[in-house]
Amino acid sequence: MSDSVRVRFAPSPTGWLHIGGLRTALYNYLFARQHGGTFVLRIEDTDQSRYVEEAEQDIVESMRWVGLEVDEGPDKGGNVGPYRQSQRTDLYREHVDQLLASGHAYVAFDTAEEIDAMRERLKTPDNPSPKYDAATRMQMMNALTLDADEVQRRLDAGEEYVVRLKVEPGQTVRFDDLIRGPVAFETDTVDDQVLLKSDGFPTYHLANVVDDHAMQITHVIRGEEWLPSTPKHVLLYDAFGWPPPAFAHLPLIMSPTGGKLSKRNADKMRIPVSVKDYIAQGYEPEALVNFLALLGWNPGDERELFTLSELVEAYSIERTAHSGAQFDIDKLQWFNGQYVRELSPTEIAERARPGVEERVGPVDPAHLEAVAALMHERLTFAHNLADAAYFFQDPTTYDEQGLKKRWKDDSAGLMRAYADRLEADDTFTEESTEAVMRQLGEDEGAGFGRIIHPVRLATTGTTAGAGMFETLVLIGREATIRRLRRAADELG
Ligand code: GLU
Repeated sequence: MSDSVRVRFAPSPTGWLHIGGLRTALYNYLFARQHGGTFVLRIEDTDQSRYVEEAEQDIVESMRWVGLEVDEGPDKGGNVGPYRQSQRTDLYREHVDQLLASGHAYVAFDTAEEIDAMRERLKTPDNPSPKYDAATRMQMMNALTLDADEVQRRLDAGEEYVVRLKVEPGQTVRFDDLIRGPVAFETDTVDDQVLLKSDGFPTYHLANVVDDHAMQITHVIRGEEWLPSTPKHVLLYDAFGWPPPAFAHLPLIMSPTGGKLSKRNADKMRIPVSVKDYIAQGYEPEALVNFLALLGWNPGDERELFTLSELVEAYSIERTAHSGAQFDIDKLQWFNGQYVRELSPTEIAERARPGVEERVGPVDPAHLEAVAALMHERLTFAHNLADAAYFFQDPTTYDEQGLKKRWKDDSAGLMRAYADRLEADDTFTEESTEAVMRQLGEDEGAGFGRIIHPVRLATTGTTAGAGMFETLVLIGREATIRRLRRAADELG
């Protein structure tokens, strides 16, 4: 492929950027970078009724957060702008006029009620919802059925109208999808789609095709939900006499329980759908990128961890899955843990600080960093550090299961004895705290486990964590002794 590859991400600003949208953007970005091509952002804001003001900014920020830099777009400029469809309406109008002149499109005056009435009138058991198409158009109010003077009279009178594409029946539309191979649609199944709406705005189909052509897009990479629109687009390319771009339709994102991952079933399974929720929940951008890249694509080997630039190398559109890609939130969290591991203690501390301080009040930065360094390997999210509040304050509760299992009749006595011996241990290092415990075990004839598990419960309130003696050193001598004594008193 030459270096003239141009792809675009063309979201509609109708709400917060969806995780599936980000995946589409990512695959387009990878494809562009891999071919030394151009990655365009185009805002498809022609549906005034669904327009959400903050959505465009959310799209831009979400893409920036994961590092998908665009080459051309509303903020970036470029030679084929403007990059918002609402600023290109004259262009669509001109193109509609072109299709009207060439007989590929026609003006229609039918109201929504009249179209409903037609459906009611013409429906059959085989065809319960007839389309506005070659079979029905001659029974409707349009430039094909009304004479030219009447059409002109209505237009002059300011009557509302739409422009429809005249789809010829009995033909087969074919295209080769880069992911799914040859695809064919019968034109009998395609309606005379509206190109220009009565508010003067183009529909998605018209604007999308006009812009992909005007912006010299070579590859249209988008979600599978757009596959049924593609024959309409191919017909439009034909009507304009333009060669269509290559198409690649990405597999749907499936819910873990099967079926498409809809907002509704995602909510039920507590899977966030908006990118902004992933940001808010403390996901690392690298983890989300890595996870999304593998959601519908695989490198063909065992590798799982990829940075964005490694993905540019490894990605291949041909290896994209044809069938749905199942969303696995546990896998995403695993990736997150992997990337948290790559952060420095300073970075972890920075991310975790707000949560930690919310829980335990102001903390000493150096101490927080030391805790981050110790807990590093065990975190799924940087903010999980706040769960280890015992590094900053005495535990107020003790894990119940842990107590049942580990707190024995001799535990209180052993805790007091350990506390006494630590009083005498001036060094209070990992080595010394361990040596003191071992000696205590020997002297008391108690196994190591008999001491270390209650010590962990007494000092942290939990049963798991980082190495016991490193943990004690960070908790500090005074606090350790105090906690051991308190637990002995409280738990008996
Ligand atoms: N505006 C469409 C969307 O919201 C674009 C689909 C396409 O890429 O053609 O996804």
